[in-house]
Amino acid sequence: MASPAAASYLVEIADPPVPSRTTPVQKKSLAENLKHIAHVLGLSSILCVGSWLLLSYGYLLYGVVSGGLGVLSIFAAFGGAKNKAACPYCGASIDIQSYHKEGTQIQCEKCHEYSQRNVSLLRALDPATTSETPKFESPVFKNSLWPKACVACGEPPVRFDDLSKTTVGALPALVGHLQIIRGSVKGLPYCDKHRDKLSLKVGSEKKLLLCWTSLRMMRRYLAANRNRPAY
Ligand SMILES: [Zn+2]
Ligand SMILES: [Zn+2]
Repeated sequence: MASPAAASYLVEIADPPVPSRTTPVQKKSLAENLKHIAHVLGLSSILCVGSWLLLSYGYLLYGVVSGGLGVLSIFAAFGGAKNKAACPYCGASIDIQSYHKEGTQIQCEKCHEYSQRNVSLLRALDPATTSETPKFESPVFKNSLWPKACVACGEPPVRFDDLSKTTVGALPALVGHLQIIRGSVKGLPYCDKHRDKLSLKVGSEKKLLLCWTSLRMMRRYLAANRNRPAY
């Protein structure tokens, strides 16, 4: 049952509006492509110099791995996204990759809203979209508020669950030590029909992400915490 302590972080919040506009998928300009190439080549030169230093100090394995990544990123520099579209929600530029085929759901890195590619257009994804496994990703906000509704279906909550995750970071292994990332989220509201519908994952740059099965409930959580710092 809902405890009085739990009630303080629960808020009544309606579905945030969904824009009806669509935005065209366009080719990136030459200048944008050159900027990307320069950025990635900068990264690969750091990796190659690192590789040379590691090798010269006798760190054979790390030197070879770093050098390999450096060479791979030279290929990546010329293989980046050639197309872009404005986010239908916030207008930020979203990279459209060649594997983003018709119907692909694409997330905006800036506002975290999901859109869908329809041929040469990007449109807001229907908020009624759900998935069997948790896949819609949101940041985990510090001291977050929660919609007063089951995280899976929006029904009134009767139970509050905790979620935790411990992950061993893979990339720091390159520099010789493992890094353990821990995260937990407390008091997830659930109805009596649902449990374990959210999961935690560690995204790029060690950011903690919450994965949802219901796009509608993810959007309400985003709306309730829009101005809070994220983990
Ligand atoms: Zn956006
Ligand atoms: Zn439910």
